[in-house]
Amino acid sequence: MSTMVAPVHAAGLGNRAHNLARLATEQFDVLVIGGGITGAGIALDAASRGIKVALVERNDFASGTSSRSSKLVHGGLRYVAEYQFRVTREASEERYQLQRLAPHLVRSVPFLLPVYGGFKETTKLSAGLWLYDILATLRNTHLHRRLSPTQVHDMVPSLTTEGLDGGFVYYDCRTDDARLTIEVLKTAAAFGAVVVNHAQVEDFMRSRDQIAGVGVRDHIRGTSIEVRAHTVVAATGVWIDTLRPKADRGALPVTRPAKGVHLVLPEQRIGNGDVAMTLQTSRDHRITFVIPWMGRTLVGTTDTEYEGRLDQPRATVDDVDYLMEAIVRAFPERHLSAADILTVQAGLRPLVNDPGASTTGISREDRVFEGESGLISIAGGKLTTYRRMARKVVDIVARRLGTAGVDGIGPCRTGSIAIGGTMDDPVPAIGTLGEETQAHLLHLYGGQASTIASLLGDHPNLAARLVPGLPHVASQVVYAARWEMGVTVSDVLIRRLRLANLDGGLALGCLHLVVPLLAQELGWSASEATAQMDNYREEVEQFAVPGRASIAASQGQESL
Ligand code: FAD
Repeated sequence: MSTMVAPVHAAGLGNRAHNLARLATEQFDVLVIGGGITGAGIALDAASRGIKVALVERNDFASGTSSRSSKLVHGGLRYVAEYQFRVTREASEERYQLQRLAPHLVRSVPFLLPVYGGFKETTKLSAGLWLYDILATLRNTHLHRRLSPTQVHDMVPSLTTEGLDGGFVYYDCRTDDARLTIEVLKTAAAFGAVVVNHAQVEDFMRSRDQIAGVGVRDHIRGTSIEVRAHTVVAATGVWIDTLRPKADRGALPVTRPAKGVHLVLPEQRIGNGDVAMTLQTSRDHRITFVIPWMGRTLVGTTDTEYEGRLDQPRATVDDVDYLMEAIVRAFPERHLSAADILTVQAGLRPLVNDPGASTTGISREDRVFEGESGLISIAGGKLTTYRRMARKVVDIVARRLGTAGVDGIGPCRTGSIAIGGTMDDPVPAIGTLGEETQAHLLHLYGGQASTIASLLGDHPNLAARLVPGLPHVASQVVYAARWEMGVTVSDVLIRRLRLANLDGGLALGCLHLVVPLLAQELGWSASEATAQMDNYREEVEQFAVPGRASIAASQGQESL
C-alpha cells in the first residue's frame, strides 16, 4: 500500500435535485443503500477504483448509529481483555491509517486509566497495555506509561484519590463520527459517487431473479424513482434485517441491536479538557469512558439488549443512573447530579448475532452476506474499521463486475486518499473570526475551513456566533446547505454542526438565526420554514434527559 496521501479536492456532495435526476436516468455499477460510515466507506472505495457508484440514505447521512457512537477511533482496550486480539490488531492499524488520512478529524488523545485495585490489578493492566501497544505494532503516537498516584492527581485533580494506587496513560483517537461520515462521502463524491439523502429504498427491481435496481422514495418531494444498478449493497446497520427479507425471502435475522447511551456534561464539571479517562462502572465493573468532545464531556457508554423501535432509540432513567453512579463515585467532590447533564444520546450497535452470548460479549467483527438475489449486505464492525469493511465488500463487487465484462477496476486505493482535504490550507486571517472559531473550523473541516471563512468576504454577518459559549458560526450553516446537502434544520444542526448534541436548549435558541439563512439557501416559503422548525423541535427531544421536562418546555417554545 502506498504511504503517500493524495489530497482530494472535496468540493461537496453536489446538488440534491441534480443527483436525484441522475439516479433516475443513469445506470450504475453499484448502488449502496445506507449513508452511515459503512456505506460512505463503500462508496469511496468503489468510486476511487473507477466504479460508477450511487448511494441513497433513507434519512440524513449519519443519522443512524454513525452519529451516536463514543466518537473514538481506537484499537479497543476492552477487546484485549476479551481476548479479541484480531479485532484490536485490525482496529489499531486503522487508527494509525486514519490519523494519516484525516489528521484534522482523527486526533490522538491521552486516556488516563486510574488503578484502585492494588498490585494485582496494576500488573494485569500493565500487561494488557503492553499487549495493546504491541498489537498496534508499536505504531501508536505514544506508548503507554505508568503514573504514580501524585501524577494521576496532577493530571485530573477532581478524580478521587481514595484507594488510588497510581495509573497509566495510553493513547487512542477521538473524532466526530457524523462529520467523518460526511467527509468520507464528500471525498467519494469528488471521485464521482452520486449521493442523495432522505431517499429510502422501498423495494427491489429484478431481472431474471437477480436484483437489478431499487425503488426509492424521495422523502423531501414525496415522489418515487427507480434506480438501475448492476449490483446492490445494503450497508443499513441495524436496519439490515428489515431490508434483507425484501430481497431474499426467508432471509433470517443476522443482527442483534445493543443500545449504548452517552451523557453530555459541561467540560468544567468533571473534565480536564485535554485528557480522556477510562473508568469502571460501579454496578458491573464494565469499562466506561469520559471523553472531552467539542468543549463538552461525553460519558459512556451503556451496553444493553434492545428490542424497541430502531428509529431514534431513547435513553432511560436507568441508563442515566448507571452512568451517573460511575462518575459520582469517581468525582465525589464535584457533587454531580442529573441536573448537570446537558443532553443524552442513545445509539444501536449493529452487532452480528451470536446466540448465547451477552451483547457485551458479542464480537465486534463484521460479516458480509451474499443473498441468492445478488444482494450483498454487511453487518457488524466499527466506525474505526470502516475502510477494511469497505474493501471487503468492494472486492466482491469488483469481482462481479469483472465477470460481467467491466474492465479496468483497480485494487483498493483508500489507504492513500486524504479524507475531506487536508490541514494545509490555513483559515484566512479574518479579524471577525476569533481564534477559538478558527481552531474549531480547522479541526472539523480541515482544508475546507477556508471555504467557510471565504463566505465572510461578501457577508461579514456570517461570522456571527450561533450560540453563546460555543465557537459555531453562521457561515457553517450556509456551507452545510451549499456543500453538504443539509436540506433540513435537523440535517444542519444535528449531523453537521452537532449543536443539538452539545446543548439541546441552545440549539433551539439559535433557530431565529439559522432558519432565515436556510430559507434563503434552500428557497423555503414561510410555511415550509415553520414546518422545518416543528420537525426539528421534535427531533431535538431525543436528546432530552429522561425524567426531566422536554427541551422545548425548559426553553419556552421559541418562534421566529
Ligand atoms: P448506520 O450508521 O446505522 O448507517 C446505516 C444507515 O442505513 C442509516 O443511516 C439508515 O438510515 C440507513 N438505511 C436503513 N434502511 C434504509 C433504506 N431502506 N434505504 C436507505 N437507507 C437506509 N465504533 C467505533 O469504532 N468507535 C466507537 O467509539 C464506537 N462507539 C460506539 C458507541 C455506541 C453507543 C454505539 C451504538 C456504537 C459505537 N461504535 C463505535 C460502533 C459504530 O458506531 C458503528 O459500528 C457504526 O457507526 C455503524 O455504521 P453503519 O454505517 O453500519 O450503520
